[in-house]
Amino acid sequence: METEAGANVKTIIEPFRIKVVEPIRMTSRQERETIIRRADFNLFRIHAEDVLIDLLTDSGTGAMSSLQWAGVMKGDESYAGAKSWFALERSVRELTGFEQILPTHQGRASERILFELMGGEGKIVPNNSHFDTTRANIEHSGAKAVDLLIEEGKRPTSRHPFKGNMDVAALERLIAEVGVGAIPLVMLTVTNNSGGGQPVSLENIRAVRRVCDQHKLPLFLDACRFAENAYFIKSREPGQADRTVREIVREMFGLADGATISAKKDGLVNIGGLLLLRNAELVRRADELLILTEGFLTYGGLAGRDLEAMAQGFEEVVHEDYLQYRIRSTEYLGEKLLAAGVQIVEPPGGHAIYIDAASFCPHIPPERFPGQALVVGLYRHAGIRACEIGSVMFGKGGQRPPMELVRLAIPRRVYTQSHIDYVIEAIGEVHAQRRALAPLEIAEEPPSLRHFTARFRELA
Ligand SMILES: *Cc1c(COP(=O)(O)O)cnc(C)c1O
Repeated sequence: METEAGANVKTIIEPFRIKVVEPIRMTSRQERETIIRRADFNLFRIHAEDVLIDLLTDSGTGAMSSLQWAGVMKGDESYAGAKSWFALERSVRELTGFEQILPTHQGRASERILFELMGGEGKIVPNNSHFDTTRANIEHSGAKAVDLLIEEGKRPTSRHPFKGNMDVAALERLIAEVGVGAIPLVMLTVTNNSGGGQPVSLENIRAVRRVCDQHKLPLFLDACRFAENAYFIKSREPGQADRTVREIVREMFGLADGATISAKKDGLVNIGGLLLLRNAELVRRADELLILTEGFLTYGGLAGRDLEAMAQGFEEVVHEDYLQYRIRSTEYLGEKLLAAGVQIVEPPGGHAIYIDAASFCPHIPPERFPGQALVVGLYRHAGIRACEIGSVMFGKGGQRPPMELVRLAIPRRVYTQSHIDYVIEAIGEVHAQRRALAPLEIAEEPPSLRHFTARFRELA
């Protein structure tokens, strides 16, 4: 692929140079052994400064640009009507076409407000795949969250270009079955985080819109990774290559009646969120709830400097050289792991690579946590922190998730290619000695969300 600069050089580079550095600390194998034992083999229990490469999440872990940091200094901290608020409002209006914009402290705060207004007993909310906080907020309201992902999206080796798509026929069946009255809104998560960061096609969003129109149902986007999704549309969907990412983003939002956004992802900031709405009555009621628990309408639980950084982040995230580098660097990690014989969820998603831990550790059955064994092995061997998404996270009460995965989430603009090469080499080495990865058992666990605090024992 040619670079934006028009040169013939094929290498895709980080489209930035480094102005401020944050040292990362090398630890010895012996230190890591002590640290991981002291943390009872749970990576959420270790101190971040004891991690060399932190791939736990891409949420709020990105690096801000020099212009965003300049915005932090410019931040207007007035309680009402701050200049920084109007900068954010302008930036988001231009990007999405939405006029009604509510600032929140993060994505789940937008979800809480939305479902307090639209959820409730007896209601059903369909999505391609609900993210866990979305599902939790829907269920907290008394409603039911239903996933309607296409079949290809559930198969780890299927190479479908838009594995995040909703099964439109299944949506029509659901509406026929439960009745329009039970469905307050239809959602689409772009990209589909729970399904491996896989994109949704423009054609699919349009098709879901048509069904919503037929039944007069509102369509909402969970738009945390709207820019990554738009870049996939540009690069994979027939007829989209000549449009700008901005145009595609504008069309995606134009098809929706509302959106919840965590700015900790494609907002390129460390904290912040948005709720976008069109319906005037809904806006009025959402404004009330916003003031009740988040803050006044022009800051929503954020400092003026946060608003300023978000305004600039939403501008930078649609730069195509940034998105090309972003999507390519995730793909690069995925391709190299596949070449090293490590099975991943294919094709690589936008923000993370998911390793199939069950095939990585054939000697460890699900009830002995192959994903946790791999996560512990990666830290022990190379100081890398990854996240188990398998039987530890979802396996309560004898239930088993369909897959045992380990997620390597890539923070935005933080690590260089040599960091990623280090990760690839380290995983290859752990893979070569994978029989040495030890099965685990749970020594102690809380009643819910056990992955955050559980303690483990290694079984030799
Ligand atoms: C992160 C995320 C959320 C929740 O956002 P927070 O800012 O973490 O509250 C909701 N949906 C998706 C798809 C996400 O990735």
